[in-house]
Amino acid sequence: MLALQGAFIEHEEMLSKLGVASFEIRKKNDLMRSFDGLIIPGGESTVQGKLLKELDLLESIRQLILEGLPTFGTCAGLLLLSKRIENDARSYLATMDITAVRNAYGRQLGSFYTEASLGTIDKIPMTFIRAPYIEEVSDSVEILATVNSRIVAARQGNQLVTAFHPELNDDFTVHRYFIDICGGE
Ligand code: GLN
Repeated sequence: MLALQGAFIEHEEMLSKLGVASFEIRKKNDLMRSFDGLIIPGGESTVQGKLLKELDLLESIRQLILEGLPTFGTCAGLLLLSKRIENDARSYLATMDITAVRNAYGRQLGSFYTEASLGTIDKIPMTFIRAPYIEEVSDSVEILATVNSRIVAARQGNQLVTAFHPELNDDFTVHRYFIDICGGE
């Protein structure tokens, strides 16, 4: 669990309910431990991105992802993984071939709840908080969910992103899906 800022505790609780052990990555040494997957939580992409650089974690984590480390980014995590952010000149880990739009729903619709299907799964709860959406994906990216014709979940190889926060609802679908990418429980 990347635990520099944001909603990482909620993800830890989800994993623990699923019987999956996790630990927090806060400094470079933590990357020496062995782990099967990485979650990058929601929060503020600019703050997490800055800390990733200051703590000299950015390049190491980027390399691990490029080497195939299963990685799940929610909301700000999605922005950190995006190669391009349409309304922000910055990019961070930039490992996933998608273009995201930041704070994409405007002030009024900044936060909302809906239900939509994810891949072949009929309906799951989706909580959006000042969320991004994905505007463009390359051919190697699989679109997993859309809400109002906007892409809100996608996968490219071992990388999974959601614009919403699955850790804030009592539904384990997305976490189970990610655990499968990591090789199962
Ligand atoms: N708006 C935040 C950002 O730009 C993301 C919001 C979230 O993670 N809930 O990073």
